[in-house]
Amino acid sequence: MLKTGIKTKAYAAFSTEGDTKPLEIVRREPGPTDVLIDIKFCGICHSDIHMAKGEWGQTVYPVVPGHEIAGIVNSVGDKVTKFKVGDHVGVGCMVDSCGECEACAEGEEQYCSKMVLTYGVLERDGKTMTYGGYSERVTVDERFVVRIPDELPLDKAAPLLCAGITTYSPLIHWGAGPGKKVAVVGVGGLGHMGIKLAAALGADVTSISRSDSKKADAQKMGATNHIATSDKAACEAAAEQFDLIINTVSSAADMNLYLGMLKRDGVMVLVGAPPDTLPVHPFALIPRRKSLAGSTIGGIRETQEMLDFCAKHNIGSDIELITIDQVNKAYERIEKSDVRYRFVIDMSSLSGK
Ligand code: NAP
Ligand code: ZN
Repeated sequence: MLKTGIKTKAYAAFSTEGDTKPLEIVRREPGPTDVLIDIKFCGICHSDIHMAKGEWGQTVYPVVPGHEIAGIVNSVGDKVTKFKVGDHVGVGCMVDSCGECEACAEGEEQYCSKMVLTYGVLERDGKTMTYGGYSERVTVDERFVVRIPDELPLDKAAPLLCAGITTYSPLIHWGAGPGKKVAVVGVGGLGHMGIKLAAALGADVTSISRSDSKKADAQKMGATNHIATSDKAACEAAAEQFDLIINTVSSAADMNLYLGMLKRDGVMVLVGAPPDTLPVHPFALIPRRKSLAGSTIGGIRETQEMLDFCAKHNIGSDIELITIDQVNKAYERIEKSDVRYRFVIDMSSLSGK
């Protein structure tokens, strides 16, 4: 951790038990191209739980999770051109990249091999750990800060910084729009955003969940059809229906079941990242030339495009607002899929402001 800088209250997980507790961290004083952001709200992504509990096997403790950051600019370095004090801004899953490789040149910084995640990894200097949004403030290079349009309330906008962009990017990449049948598997944080975004893009959207308990909500979000995977007949009737499936499932599930629902040349994109290996039968793909793909977040330019799209279409996340001391309880509820549909931490409960 930095020795000098701005002392900052935060919450961190200290072991694979995953419980978060207070930790004081140090943020760097803003350099010439940095923006210092007072964090107002931070969404809780299921990735925070995977990381806090070391489920992906790579966690360095203590880890301060949080990569759905919405806040207000506190101060800017003298070379910052995009932002000024008081602006509403967001930071998502990454805070740096090399800026020179093919991916960076194409605005796909998330695929840069030197990309730096918002928390839990070393900065490019190889010495300083990154700490996430369960904290009072953060210093970020302006290249990795996006503008939150005034139409979007900061609390409902926070989840767009990960759940929003992670579903928007593959929807755009694989051409979701009018005339396309899109299914979203898992009606959770990512899934509920995927339904709203795919519907706003003009696609015909089906929600796929384990039961019917979220059916009415999914339809309010824009799904025209709902499949409960507990209903065998409904699954069979859905065979070869979809051009595109966005799969947000967070723990091991039978991928062959969903692949069966793709049309010829259809694509299922994994954005859900369970720690498990997921067996796929070759004949789930071969006979109808189907594809299984993966996708992670989206570039900064695309993140800004997504936020502007959400402002235009009046799309925010459905949230349950909590205080910082309720994070551990929220983790338990997320693991039971008992959240409608994203927990967002009101950071005034930490900063007192
Ligand atoms: P979430 O809110 O917990 O939602 C996950 C949903 O998956 C649940 O609501 C549930 O939907 C479904 N699900 C969970 N276990 C299942 C099982 N065994 N079988 C079938 N369905 C199951 O989580 P999230 O925040 O949306 O994150 C989802 C996943 O995406 C996590 O693994 C996360 O790490 C990953 N992620 C990836 C990226 C990326 O860049 N690719 C970015 C963010 C998050 P129903 O209750 O409707 O069945
Ligand atoms: Zn996330």
